[in-house]
Amino acid sequence: MKDTLDQLEVVNSYAGLPAPFYTRLKTQPLTDPTLLHVNEPIATMLGLSAKAVNSSQFLQVFSGQAPLPGGDTLAAVYSGHQFGIWAGQLGDGRAHLLGEIVTAHGHWELQLKGSGRTPYSRMGDGRAVLRSSVREYLAGEAMAGLGIPTTRALALVGSKDPVYRETVETAAIVTRVSPSFVRFGSFEHWSRRPDMLKALLDYVVQRHYPECLQPAAGEPDDEQGVALRFLGAVVERTARLIADWQTAGFCHGVMNTDNMSIIGLTLDYGPYGFMDAFKVNHVCNHSDTEGRYAWNAQPSVAHWNLYRLASTLLQLGIDEEALRQPLRRYEPVFLEAYRGNLSRKLGLVRYEEGDDVLMDGWWQLLHTQEADFSLSFRRLAAAVQDNDAFLQHFPEREAARAWLDVYLQRVGRDGRDDGERVAQMNGVNPLYVLRNHLAENAIRAAVKGDASEIDTLLSLLRDPCTERPGFEQYAAEPPEWAGLLEVSCSS
Ligand code: AMP
Ligand code: MG
Repeated sequence: MKDTLDQLEVVNSYAGLPAPFYTRLKTQPLTDPTLLHVNEPIATMLGLSAKAVNSSQFLQVFSGQAPLPGGDTLAAVYSGHQFGIWAGQLGDGRAHLLGEIVTAHGHWELQLKGSGRTPYSRMGDGRAVLRSSVREYLAGEAMAGLGIPTTRALALVGSKDPVYRETVETAAIVTRVSPSFVRFGSFEHWSRRPDMLKALLDYVVQRHYPECLQPAAGEPDDEQGVALRFLGAVVERTARLIADWQTAGFCHGVMNTDNMSIIGLTLDYGPYGFMDAFKVNHVCNHSDTEGRYAWNAQPSVAHWNLYRLASTLLQLGIDEEALRQPLRRYEPVFLEAYRGNLSRKLGLVRYEEGDDVLMDGWWQLLHTQEADFSLSFRRLAAAVQDNDAFLQHFPEREAARAWLDVYLQRVGRDGRDDGERVAQMNGVNPLYVLRNHLAENAIRAAVKGDASEIDTLLSLLRDPCTERPGFEQYAAEPPEWAGLLEVSCSS
């Protein structure tokens, strides 16, 4: 373990890309910063001791007052499609890459978010409010606790500096941690510069998809082959990621191509949401008035985004038909992952032909009865021993009864011991979910300088399926006021 940040092994591979990829610049520090929270598992993963975390140097670096020793601070450029429309150049408008830490568990880039203006800020102030920073900080751990690929966070720093959104709020910086922050939009940015595109492709493949350098039997051992295998790998990771989102009741909220990770992580937590009552077309982002990024739209939006990524590769001289091949893998990979996830959540030994009817019926039931997404799976596990415990949560008992009868027959055919199935289901269906109102409680306390609610939530969300006595209210359906909460693009 390192006791100071100077002892970390820092490299700067992104800074090794050609100069147009980024701007080297300083961060703009917060005034009088306070360290609100440190994510200890991530600090440990990075090799930082308690002494390092408690040092004044730690606060200086992660509040933007000092660079990471050995790091090349920079803001990266990218472009993207926002809400389906080409938005042109975007980029790190309020984020700074500090450098990349070499650990026994791989390379981890550290990035400050909310650390001041950059050449890519456009009209923005380069800041992030505490509210959205707490939400981002919690979300990475919640997703990791569910086993869903995600960026993580190391530290949360607050300040009294005012930030003007709909109201006056205060500024914060969250330090994000990821093997890479490259986005689909990073590729789209070079849609007229094949030389730059090639440099980016080589960089990403070398670091994150080295297996794509090796041709499979019958595949061409050339640049095109690498690009096609790379696209196929991104398609597969993205398809699996979206399947995980769907079966966790997670809505990203802003699936613009600049928010799509090239390594298949959940990236850029803004107006995301874990569903309370299930609604098939639930829209978590109040700014998304058309419902473009509704829960049931996410799978097709991701596919559309992959098309945007694929079309950048046309410039490398790959013909269109060849690019369509890996894109066709999306649906089967998604369906297999989705059916596998949902089978586990429903306690089926494995997906069988015909189970789609049962699965669609489940969503239909939850939707029409406005049943709680997460708790319904937990209640289903208990339904075999006590049908009533399950049925009482549905206003139209008959509809629930009809579905449950079909379900009980289906699990009966599996011939598995009930106790075993219940244990398996309760091992995958979370009791503690990062519901909006729970995040809101943590935000309200954090605004007063109290991070204890963040602590409590993190301890529950890291092991979300294990029941913890005394924390019943964290596993309960949301209170009425939760329905009044609105999350939007404002952050
Ligand atoms: P987002 O919708 O958060 O993914 O952001 C879209 C683009 O706007 C990205 O290029 C961000 O860096 C930029 N952006 C968002 N908020 C701000 C801000 N307050 N200051 C500067 N740039 C911002
Ligand atoms: Mg973004």
